[in-house]
Amino acid sequence: MLGVKNSKFYAMQYQGVLKKMLTENNDEIQYYLDMESDFINMNQLLTKTITIQFVKYQCLNCGLDKQIYRQGFCKSCFFETARAGDWIMRPELSKAHLGIEDRDLEYEKQSQLKPHIVYLANSSNVKVGVTRKSQVPTRWIDQGAHEAIEIVEVPNRYLAGITEVALKEHVADKTNWRKMLKNDVVDESLEDWKNKLKQYIPEEAKEYFIENNKETELKFPVIAYPEKPKSLNLIKTPNYSGKLVGIKGQYLIFEDQTVFNVRANEGLVVQISIQ
Ligand SMILES: [Zn+2]
Repeated sequence: MLGVKNSKFYAMQYQGVLKKMLTENNDEIQYYLDMESDFINMNQLLTKTITIQFVKYQCLNCGLDKQIYRQGFCKSCFFETARAGDWIMRPELSKAHLGIEDRDLEYEKQSQLKPHIVYLANSSNVKVGVTRKSQVPTRWIDQGAHEAIEIVEVPNRYLAGITEVALKEHVADKTNWRKMLKNDVVDESLEDWKNKLKQYIPEEAKEYFIENNKETELKFPVIAYPEKPKSLNLIKTPNYSGKLVGIKGQYLIFEDQTVFNVRANEGLVVQISIQ
């Protein structure tokens, strides 16, 4: 019983560069944080007090201690690496199917010429999105969607992109993160939405419409949803402690209404201590 007796002296400590949490879709979604020497199963930290401390930057491309600009990359890497081309955020700009290079044609072929899914997900409202097929249901979990459905499965990213562009004339393409975290959500029939949107799929993608599929339901490990979520900025508040009461999307939710978006803090080296 040594551990129990001395538990307050035994803060477990981890250090590593933040990357989005890995997930596993069980009855309840399981979350894992990769901290170099260990994977922390975040579900096991629910109701525990954890401290997050900013140590330095570590760009996910060059590894240098340079201020992070976007997507875990420093500014120069963001504008140079093939992993941050415009086609990532705007799939309709994909050109690998035409053999045209953006930054690195081999990398772009590897990423773009794979089956892609256009889907509807309900996180705060129904929204349309694009993901590689291999990222289903990871992508939905990362967005905090409690239900989602595939609309088309196409052979490349470009076709998915033009389908999304056409559909977002008729349905949202953004999530309201506050509503998502407050769990201020309404259950929708995504089958109905899908069938209504079918008519707007562009000609080139119509043959890829998926018939007769069902919604996927996702259950997040949350004990208490925040009423007024306030976002933790680790640069302004380099040392934060709070009691973890939930995980939804890529957010850690704390008892004092603080929420921490792990994905938005990729590239920051942190020390995590668990009391
Ligand atoms: Zn860099």
